[in-house]
Amino acid sequence: MASVVTKDPLFFALMKSQRSFIDYSLDKRATLAALFRGTVNACDADPYLLRAAKFHGVKTTRPCPVCKHLSMVELMYTFGDQLGQYSGRIKNSDELRQMEKEYGEFRVYIVEVCRDCSWNHLCVSFVLGDGVERKPPRYTRTLEDSDWA
Ligand SMILES: [Zn+2]
Repeated sequence: MASVVTKDPLFFALMKSQRSFIDYSLDKRATLAALFRGTVNACDADPYLLRAAKFHGVKTTRPCPVCKHLSMVELMYTFGDQLGQYSGRIKNSDELRQMEKEYGEFRVYIVEVCRDCSWNHLCVSFVLGDGVERKPPRYTRTLEDSDWA
């Protein structure tokens, strides 16, 4: 699967409902500048994020801006009221294509993570969905529920 942040117009062309696109590259440049000045530590991906990167990350063709290794992956997080308990999940592009038909509105956040030096940053976000207002799915018990018996 190809990276969606790098020049891959196909992905965005397929995401018919995409809107409210936000590019965080200015913020990323500022973070990198501060990092190289030694005023911030942006190579601080927590174990959960690193684990997600290992299992769900989509490899990119860009080198890490910090360590220059080709070890960067992207994660696509989905958030929205209409997603109910499933808000905050990581999705792949096939799942997003399905979801944009099933939900009125949700936002996708693409985070890049370096698996070598733990650099991590939000790249872009955008809204998907068919615009039809829907109630969140009815709450379903999952194994993640602490009171599961
Ligand atoms: Zn790195």
